[in-house]
Amino acid sequence: MEELIIASNNAHKIKEIKAILGNFFPRIISMREAGLDIEIEETGSTFKENALIKARTVSEITGKPCLADDSGLSVDCLFGAPGVYSARFDGEGHNDEDNIRKLLKEMANADDRRAHFNTTICLYYPGGRYLIAEGKAYGRILTEKRGENGFGYDPVFFSDELNKTFAEAGEQEKNSVSHRAKALLNLENMLK
Ligand code: IMP
Repeated sequence: MEELIIASNNAHKIKEIKAILGNFFPRIISMREAGLDIEIEETGSTFKENALIKARTVSEITGKPCLADDSGLSVDCLFGAPGVYSARFDGEGHNDEDNIRKLLKEMANADDRRAHFNTTICLYYPGGRYLIAEGKAYGRILTEKRGENGFGYDPVFFSDELNKTFAEAGEQEKNSVSHRAKALLNLENMLK
């Protein structure tokens, strides 16, 4: 069992990863804790490519196993957009509010409002072997925001499983059905 580095400094993500993968790795640390202060460009056109780019980059620099994830929202009537561009849908430097406004505008006349969140995780080992795991959360996009919790597109994503938006759900509740949690559980099953 070895130290695992997460290619992120997001405390929420790291906490969630520790809760699920703690049995497999006695020490799980962020990039910052590993002494790395770098920005990795997500140049891939798929979630898998981006997760692999991030995990491989950090593993090659540190010589340690590394885990990276890439997530986003895919809307059926927009042919999978915003997808890998979810964070910058309304352009570089724009925030969640701007992205939601753009999404609702593009879907103004849409009857089919089905969408899903996706997370792809890559666990990359020094030497080049790696595992890929995926998780999805299905729902639909509302015509206006509901709820105050969460981040990103949570206020307009009505979860099929929770029967409320991700922003109306508590943190635990969202984590019980989220794309990220499902991807981590799939990875846990692969490690077993
Ligand atoms: P990341 O790859 O986890 O950084 O996610 C990229 C972008 O996808 C975020 O900036 C959000 O816009 C969106 N996103 C990913 N996961 C979620 C979620 O759980 N709720 C809402 N938006 C999300």
